[in-house]
Formats: sequence, C-alpha cells, structure tokens
Amino acid sequence: MQKEGLKIVISGPSGAGKGTIVKELIKNETFRLSISATTRMPRQGEEEGVHYFFKTKKAFSKMIEEEQLLEYAMFCDNYYGTPKCFIEESVKNGKDVILEIEVQGAAQIKEVYPEAIFIFVIPPTLRDLENRLIGRNTETDEVIKKRLQRAKEELYLYKEYDYVIINDNIERAADYIEKIVCAEKLRSNKFKQHIEAILNYQGGF
Ligand code: 5GP
Repeated sequence: MQKEGLKIVISGPSGAGKGTIVKELIKNETFRLSISATTRMPRQGEEEGVHYFFKTKKAFSKMIEEEQLLEYAMFCDNYYGTPKCFIEESVKNGKDVILEIEVQGAAQIKEVYPEAIFIFVIPPTLRDLENRLIGRNTETDEVIKKRLQRAKEELYLYKEYDYVIINDNIERAADYIEKIVCAEKLRSNKFKQHIEAILNYQGGF
C-alpha cells in the first residue's frame, strides 16, 4: 500500500535562504513544492506557475471568495496564499509536499493540518540577513527595510515550530531537513497498519 507523504511547512525571515534550501530539496524526487499565488510582481527570472501564480488583487480576492486557498496572508503589502487542490493529491501519491510560507500562513496550516511538520529557518545573524536581502538585488531599499523589520518580528515565533535550522550552509541545511523528514516517517504512530499486517500472519505450519 502507498504510504501518504508528509506536509512540510518551512518558514523563516525573508532572506534566510528558504528558497535556496527548497531548491536543493526538490532535486530529490520525493519532494513536491506547493506553488503559491501572490499579488507581488514577478522578479526577474521568475516564471508563472513555476515560482508563483502571479495574480492581480482582484483575481486573488476571487480565489479567496471561491475558497480556493488553504491559507492566505498579507506580507509587506502583498497577498500570498496556498492553493488547496495540489496538496491532498500529492500526499496521497506518497509525495512529501513542501509549503514555503510565512508565519501567519503557517499558523493557519497548523489548524488544518496539525500533523504537518513545522520547520523554521533562520540566518546565522541579522547582518547575514541584511547582506542577503541587499545582495540579491531584487527589492527596493524601502522594501528591504520593511522585510528586515518584519524579520525581527517573525524571529520571536520560532517556538511555534517543531524544528529550527540555522542556515549557514545550504547543503547542510537541506540535509538536516531530509533527516528530519526521515525521522518523522519512522514515528511509532505511523506503524499501526504495518504491525497489524505482521500480526495477521497465520503461519505456514
Ligand atoms: P517573496 O516575496 O520573498 O517570494 O515571499 C515573501 C514571503 O511570503 C516569504 O516569507 C514566503 O515564504 C511567503 N510566502 C510565499 N508563498 C506563501 C503562501 O502561499 N502563503 C503565505 N502565507 N506565505 C507565503
């Protein structure tokens, strides 16, 4: 029987490197990334349906009205939300679904999927975060300032998560997440059916 995949929520301040870690993780075929909808403008190189589903405010509101989103939140003046359809189907097919979302959305996911794994990615220092936000050159100074302020607020929420990963090395951070997922799959509460099947064995004698 196909075992259900896990739902893995990855949050952390903007610039902590979540996106790069996720890119590393999805090289492994068992992982699937949930593609969010957003009202943010695409950055250079970002593609529709690959990085996000880019929406106007009106189209995003329609998605909310039609209950197409599992969760949504406002982040630095833009809306972001997780489409419902993809997640259930993917976990049923045994895929481990990654939701790379901010903290308000993660709290909503906890209500719907308390069994999900919640991982918080942080930078080694605030200076690292600042350097990354400036270095990637994707936002204006004003937006960087907002994101840094928001980062400080988000850091207080680390206790809401099951695991914290300090991102001082992408490969190591991704490796830790793979190990967490592996350990979560070996939890005793996941073995009821397996043990029952063993015990149902009638014997060949
Ligand atoms: P960015 O604009 O840098 O791509 O994303 C800004 C923030 O929005 C990041 O913290 C990212 O994790 C978060 N985010 C991306 N997609 C979603 C989503 O579907 N829901 C929520 N709540 N946050 C999201």
